[in-house]
Amino acid sequence: MSVLLLADHDNGALSPATARLVAAASELGAVDILVVAENPAPIAAEAAKIAGVHQVITVTAPETAETITNSLENLAQRYRNVTASASSVGKDVIPRLAAKLDIQPVTDIVEILGPNRFTRPIYAGNALETVEDRQATHLLTFRASAFRPAASGNDAPIETLDLSVTSAARFLAAHRTDSDTPDLATAQIVIGGGVSVGSAEGFQLIEKLGKTLGAAVGATRAAVDAGYAPNDWQIGQTGKIIAPDLYIAIGISGALQHLAGIQGAKKIFAINTDPESPLVKIADVALIGDLFEIIPQLIAELERL
Ligand code: FAD
Repeated sequence: MSVLLLADHDNGALSPATARLVAAASELGAVDILVVAENPAPIAAEAAKIAGVHQVITVTAPETAETITNSLENLAQRYRNVTASASSVGKDVIPRLAAKLDIQPVTDIVEILGPNRFTRPIYAGNALETVEDRQATHLLTFRASAFRPAASGNDAPIETLDLSVTSAARFLAAHRTDSDTPDLATAQIVIGGGVSVGSAEGFQLIEKLGKTLGAAVGATRAAVDAGYAPNDWQIGQTGKIIAPDLYIAIGISGALQHLAGIQGAKKIFAINTDPESPLVKIADVALIGDLFEIIPQLIAELERL
């Protein structure tokens, strides 16, 4: 047993990111998935279907950072690699575990070069560093968006672990934004809107284009700060990191802090009035013009297909 992976799940369902994390973790060995949840059974059943999963271990406990950390700590000595997503949960749990086990974690891994060598971004994604980790146990977090999802079609065994993990923290409530669009972090097509979209109503146009293309919708910080788009749409250094096959950037200048979140995009299509804007310069294809003229035409053409 060499890799333990903390399942990424939310609201009682396994997140699509977990299949990507399994693909990453599989590069290091056979993967056991740990599910810590008040009702882990349905999440574990989904996790067991992912190709490359050796077994699923469940712990029934409220999902607080303390219970998850304690569960991982209980299992850690069995594994060479203890891994999680570089998501908000991973960022909460892995440093706690690192302190308890006295291990230096390697975070935000985007490429695995060997059993001890990992690539991770630094300076807000402006450079990549190679880290060699010679510790007996590795504590790692992966950026799910940097890896292709593992296939499904497995029936891994599910083991229930009876741990009495305690937590001084109490789960009170989760406030969620309901959305029927794909998850930003794992979507294949993402459309980002900038502050020049001008209003929340303007973003409805971007959402309409998103629906036509089956794309997730995001925004720049300037658009979020202006109140045109919700907080959890923010893409960038202080927002979400995306790695879609196609990123459509609408009225976005391409500030460094925004670019830090889109470096994994395979192709970039920019719509902007300014041919000199940094995003137009790095785009694979750019349309120079007014978004309010181009977007309705684009939607009309796509609806005709
Ligand atoms: P602008 O820079 O104002 O660009 C607007 C663009 O729209 C221009 O290129 C313009 O030519 C174009 N335009 C105008 N009108 C039209 C039109 N009608 N049709 C088509 N194009 C048009 N930003 C992020 O996005 N994510 C982050 O995570 C983030 N983190 C930050 C962290 C820190 C510590 C700081 C200091 C800043 C951060 N920022 C972040 C903010 C960042 O520096 C930029 O201010 C922001 O990204 C700019 O957003 P924008 O492109 O929407 O706006």
